[in-house]
Amino acid sequence: MRSFERYAPDLDAYHGRARTGPRFVCGIVARDPGFPGHHVVYEGDGAIAFFNRWPTQYGYTLVAPKEHREQVTGGFAVEEYLELQRVVYRVAEAVRLEVGAERVYVLSLGSSAGNAHVHWHVVPLPPGVPYEEQQLAAVMLQTAGALDVPEEERAALAARIRGRVGRG
Ligand SMILES: [Zn+2]
Repeated sequence: MRSFERYAPDLDAYHGRARTGPRFVCGIVARDPGFPGHHVVYEGDGAIAFFNRWPTQYGYTLVAPKEHREQVTGGFAVEEYLELQRVVYRVAEAVRLEVGAERVYVLSLGSSAGNAHVHWHVVPLPPGVPYEEQQLAAVMLQTAGALDVPEEERAALAARIRGRVGRG
């Protein structure tokens, strides 16, 4: 796996956007130019998957319903939920195989105070990360920092993952 420099992003700006900015998933679905650089890797009738703009790991992808929903389970009928999980599975497998992850973390965060539109984080853990730097430490910007992946590399990786999701 290629390695990239890490940097500490401006967390105040990040949280400010999350808390007061437009709801970013709806913005990405609408291709709002205010949300650049997310690189959509899957889009179907009900779900969309795109890169985290501040990835702590190479291949860090988010999966979300295209409609605005806020409860991770209660916002969905069970069949809708399972349909979304089918997309989570396909995206996670595509990411895992593409980047050679040792493990893939899948989690849903957010709250009504920030990033309210429900989404699942699909976070590939590369091999060889020390134990203390795994799990949530590997997911969070505060502990892992952001990977400085050049834009053309992000686009190329997105194209490869898109190809794998399409075959899934
Ligand atoms: Zn939304």
